[in-house]
Amino acid sequence: MDDFSTGRIDNIRHLLRYDTFSFVRHDVIASLDIPVNEIYNLACPASPPHYQADPIHTMKTCVFGSLNLLELATRHQARIFQASTSEIYGDPQVHPQPENYWGNVNSFGPRSCYDEGKRSAETLFRDFHAQYGVDIRIARIFNTYGPRMRPDDGRVVSNFIVQALKGQDITVYGDGSQTRSFCYVADLIEGFIRLMGNETTIHTPVNLGNPAEFTVRELAEKVITMTGSSSHVVYQPLPIDDPRQRRPDITVAKHELGWEPSVALADGLESTIAYFERQLVRPNSELFE
Ligand code: UDP
Repeated sequence: MDDFSTGRIDNIRHLLRYDTFSFVRHDVIASLDIPVNEIYNLACPASPPHYQADPIHTMKTCVFGSLNLLELATRHQARIFQASTSEIYGDPQVHPQPENYWGNVNSFGPRSCYDEGKRSAETLFRDFHAQYGVDIRIARIFNTYGPRMRPDDGRVVSNFIVQALKGQDITVYGDGSQTRSFCYVADLIEGFIRLMGNETTIHTPVNLGNPAEFTVRELAEKVITMTGSSSHVVYQPLPIDDPRQRRPDITVAKHELGWEPSVALADGLESTIAYFERQLVRPNSELFE
């Protein structure tokens, strides 16, 4: 299901030919009833410029969307997964961030629609589990990247790669000393599947991310080197409430799911750069036939 507010049909075109796959165009803000065994709720733009473009819709997606899907799960006794976020921790004062850290979040800023929306969603999941016994699974996802991102996604990895490939200036916000920990998409998906599997019954949030931490400036230098680009770094103002540092403590995921990321940043960047190179030549091409 997708409303294509940020998703693209090209990302799933290769699946449409399978009888075992069906697609519904729908916005989770509106309720729905379809037969389900398991629900993965990843609905919501995740890139700051996209989720801030219509902040009220973002909050509704998180809150009404979760409510609708939790009601659906209750009706069908389905297991339900929530894509939560490291933004739960805001601009963290504890580093790295374990799940029992309550965070440092501004409720009244440009990021609040996403941060507080996702926090409210966690609360709804918790309460549907407590009140109706719904089988919930919650992943707190840290910065993730990989093929099938939009060239205009607006997040740092895709911005830097696209800028480098086009020979445009690389836009570092602030002085680039802020840190992020970047997880390759395939590692993340493996974590989702383990979290939703029968081997675990963990009903509390689990951090999923790659603990290898880099400054934004280091990322810019890596991308320039790997693409062989002649682009120059330019410094632009740091967005309001931009977290200073971010790195997951993945002890819980290791113990409960036997999970840890296996793709190093250089390897993940290589396939992501190759993807964007193809996209820039043939913008609507499929990645995998
Ligand atoms: N950033 C940057 N240049 C860009 C896009 C982002 O320097 O073109 C910075 C941004 O200010 C933040 C970090 O990169 O410190 C990660 O930003 P992103 O939007 O990817 O995700 P966030 O972790 O902020 O949600």
